[in-house]
Amino acid sequence: MATDQVQGVEVKVVNSDKGKGLFACQAFKKGDQIFEEVPLVCSQFLWNEFYKYEACEFCLKSLETAENMARRLTSISTLELPQKQNCTVRPDQYICCPHCQVVYCSKECMETAWKKYHCTLCMGSSREDESHPLGMLQVAWRNIHFPPESCSIMLLAKMICMVKQSNDPEAVLKAFSQFTNSTVNEEEQIMHKLLGPQFKEQLETFRSMVMLSLYDEHIPQWFTYEGFQSLFALIGRNGQGIGTSSISVWCQNCDAMDLHPDERISIDSFIDQLYVDLERESGTFLNCEGSGLYSMQSCCNHSCVPNAEVQFPHNCHKLRVVALEDIVPGEEICISYLDGCMLERSRHSRQKHLRDNYLFNCKCIKCQSQCDEPDITSSEEDEEEEDMEAEVT
Ligand SMILES: [Zn+2]
Ligand SMILES: [Zn+2]
Ligand SMILES: [Zn+2]
Repeated sequence: MATDQVQGVEVKVVNSDKGKGLFACQAFKKGDQIFEEVPLVCSQFLWNEFYKYEACEFCLKSLETAENMARRLTSISTLELPQKQNCTVRPDQYICCPHCQVVYCSKECMETAWKKYHCTLCMGSSREDESHPLGMLQVAWRNIHFPPESCSIMLLAKMICMVKQSNDPEAVLKAFSQFTNSTVNEEEQIMHKLLGPQFKEQLETFRSMVMLSLYDEHIPQWFTYEGFQSLFALIGRNGQGIGTSSISVWCQNCDAMDLHPDERISIDSFIDQLYVDLERESGTFLNCEGSGLYSMQSCCNHSCVPNAEVQFPHNCHKLRVVALEDIVPGEEICISYLDGCMLERSRHSRQKHLRDNYLFNCKCIKCQSQCDEPDITSSEEDEEEEDMEAEVT
């Protein structure tokens, strides 16, 4: 399995509580790349696509030039980026599926997608047709799963098609079986989070829609109520968010330039202003967003004081895990499942979020050192939590 493909790290069983974990077999310095990895499967979120965040259907590369993306997201149509050569997207290499016109960043992406799943998922000339079974499925998903998105029904559809189209379906099934599965109780909790309180009916609706468009006699176990729920829980629990942006690659390249101090000041202040304009107009929706299943990364446990983080430096689905501090051989590599703001909150809030969304009680060093703190949150946090609760119920 993937363990032998990546040097410097190994997957080990930690204990019956935590299951697997990822451990360093060599020293890493702060800032070092620990490993890079492409997902087994990934998919752009449906609202993100609907709102014209143009991404390669296979690798999620953001397809707009940095300048066009900046114009769209700031609503400043005359905006011009300096140092245009730092934008690395290559529109001359884009290619459409000849049947449905969905766009790929390269011929290679198009051919790989076709071979893996798109031959089945291609809707041909019915791509915009919402009465096509696959069109109906996407509309139904969008209608219950609003931004900020965390999951896509198309990830599940692609998994089914990968088994369907493979010469060796057993190998594909085995690859998916490495991801953490859950007990029936846990699955129901995940369903509740993903689909809301009506999850039983919702799940049944999606199951019949997926059956109608993609049933496969080789994997009847995925189409029973229980099997379908398990599949859903698998992507809900293991899916890693992906964010790609041609603007951020342009910024990285600007940062790396060796410039005269005056030019440096000028480009830095341009970028600062750009982000002010972007956030004013588009808030936090700055990336092409989706999610994917990653073999190695899914073995990384959470810590509230992580020693590593996930980045997407290549404007595509390839993720990089980077050391946030020096790591010694034998040390467990932990990332944070919480975003920056959430990570700064009280132990009680962090633990509640982790329990609700990832079904475990965090026992990291930080949580242990704060275990004497009373289980109360500041009034501000309480209100936010109530708001969040109100959204899901
Ligand atoms: Zn691509
Ligand atoms: Zn197509
Ligand atoms: Zn913790």
